[in-house]
Amino acid sequence: ASLYRIDQWGGPYFGVNDNGNVSIYPHGSKTLNHQEIDLFKIVKKASDAKDEGGLGLQLPIIIRLPDVLKHRVESIQSAFESAIEAEGYTSHYQGVYPVKCNQDRFVVDDIVRFGDKFRFGLEAGSKPELLLAMSCLCKGNAEAFLVCNGFKDAEFISLSLVGRKLGFNTVIVLELEEEADLVIDLSRKLGVRPVIGMRAKLRTKHDGHFGSTSGEKGKFGLTTTQILRVVKKLDECGMLDCLQLLHFHIGSQIPSTALLADGVGEAAQVYCELVRLGARMGVIDIGGGLGIDYDGSKSPNSDVSVGYTLEEYAAAVVGEIKSACDRKMVKHPVICSESGRAIVSHHSVLVFEAVSASKNSVPQMSSADLSYLIERLPEDAIVDYRKLSAAAMGGEYETCLLYSDQLKQKCVEQFKEGSFDIDQLAAVDGLCDLVYKAIGAPDPVRTYHVNLSVFTSIPDFWGIGQLFPIVPIHRLEQKPVVKGILSDITCDSDGKIGKFIGGEESLPLHELKGGGGGSYYLGMFLGGAYEEGLGGIHNLFGGPSVVRVSQSDGPHSFAVTQAVHGPSCADVLRMMQHEPEMMFEKLKHRAEEYVFDEGAHGLDHDAIANGIASSFHNMPYLVKSSCSLIAS
Ligand code: PLP
Repeated sequence: ASLYRIDQWGGPYFGVNDNGNVSIYPHGSKTLNHQEIDLFKIVKKASDAKDEGGLGLQLPIIIRLPDVLKHRVESIQSAFESAIEAEGYTSHYQGVYPVKCNQDRFVVDDIVRFGDKFRFGLEAGSKPELLLAMSCLCKGNAEAFLVCNGFKDAEFISLSLVGRKLGFNTVIVLELEEEADLVIDLSRKLGVRPVIGMRAKLRTKHDGHFGSTSGEKGKFGLTTTQILRVVKKLDECGMLDCLQLLHFHIGSQIPSTALLADGVGEAAQVYCELVRLGARMGVIDIGGGLGIDYDGSKSPNSDVSVGYTLEEYAAAVVGEIKSACDRKMVKHPVICSESGRAIVSHHSVLVFEAVSASKNSVPQMSSADLSYLIERLPEDAIVDYRKLSAAAMGGEYETCLLYSDQLKQKCVEQFKEGSFDIDQLAAVDGLCDLVYKAIGAPDPVRTYHVNLSVFTSIPDFWGIGQLFPIVPIHRLEQKPVVKGILSDITCDSDGKIGKFIGGEESLPLHELKGGGGGSYYLGMFLGGAYEEGLGGIHNLFGGPSVVRVSQSDGPHSFAVTQAVHGPSCADVLRMMQHEPEMMFEKLKHRAEEYVFDEGAHGLDHDAIANGIASSFHNMPYLVKSSCSLIAS
């Protein structure tokens, strides 16, 4: 556990059990009622063939844990309730979940269900998100906020206004000054009294990776001058009482409570000013930003960590708002937050398989081979070789590396000129590898090929270099003997992972069994927020299969409550406007035209058509079973 820092980033949901497998505590700890779930057993259940008692799903697989979502919602709620009680704050906390962090229907439904007793609501940043939020909140609480953020046109605003008629507590947050005119106009036309929020462009700036929305040059929000103009406009049309919420968002992954307190303090002053100007304010919405400790360092200086706990975050927020309001004798507002990352990150684990690994290529060479090779070295390369062997004999490690680099470089030049053949070039590489081994140089970092698309499943790694914990999910009782990087199966050189949490440039890995691929499973953790929505279909790899797993009293202490195959080749082709049914018919027709008699493998056109049909049906990832064309 410590080698992969699971004990640092994993708590309270992940650990390692006595079998050396990753264990999950979906309720945040092991208790009498809640036993651990063995992640490896879930993967076996999901991926084993149906006739072996499995569900026959193809990897990669996302394992969703609704119990973790429940624990996250409850933990945030309880952190704010404790801070409110400790501070003597006279209003309450009422959060919303920003659906953009993971729009999966069941994830949103779960959050609405688990948050019902806390009046927990949703945040939408676009029209389809608003439609999905309204449909999911149908089963929820009428008091729950439905915060409408993002750039809005007349349709978006009308939809949120109609939402109020349908009994949803929609709040239209003005991101731009111009939106005020649309809201005034459309609410009159539709005869709906809107609840308006205003997003303030704060001066507080979050300089981290996720802070580009903050500061005066941020993309969103109203400047001080714009806020005053909108207040005046609303007042003039008798709608200042509709302005009830102040919103801000200084960026995701806020690194420290000092920065948080700075931003919240500034916003609380704006809130008090709006009260003074006559708005009927009641809610301060602090946006997202509650961070996740991806690398377990608990450091505000790491891009992928934060220097506070949930409790410290809530205490800083409540304390700042209270003191600003008390100074101005303003009634304490309801505190709303839009935490997305902090709610959904932990609830899903992406599991993928290493299918092969590059080999260590130290050659077997007889002394005759060596002499033959040395004789054929170009003259200046022989000088380097002599220096290299002298350094190796003398155990001069650094010098050895230097000379072997020089030697290799010269031989490559000779090869390019055509005076060295490919066997000689390979032998020089081998010679240098032998020397490395003789001087005790560490084994070179190997490449593990993983059945995954980084672009589809870990887009933030590719796009902004964000690191996530990646760990073998089994064999953790065995010492890993290899250092490896991960290379995905897309035809793109960016599709590899060579940076890991803790600043490591390789990952400790186990040898693949039998030297071949398969059955070595790795998990990417804490990726439940943003990754699924951002992922594209580069190279036409679609999303993973998904299983939902709940804790149960069964023999394995878990139950798979839903299993969905990932998009097939036909599905991803359809996304790019191709028509798989027609494509299949064309290819089938071609098989009928071209295959007159049975070929060398006994393939007739029906067999070919069946094989092609199953390729359309399968996921684009590497398939374990043999190809149906050959099977037939
Ligand atoms: N609210 C707004 C307006 C956002 O832009 C974001 C994301 O950047 C969030 C909430 C969610 O932030 P986080 O995932 O940091 O909680």
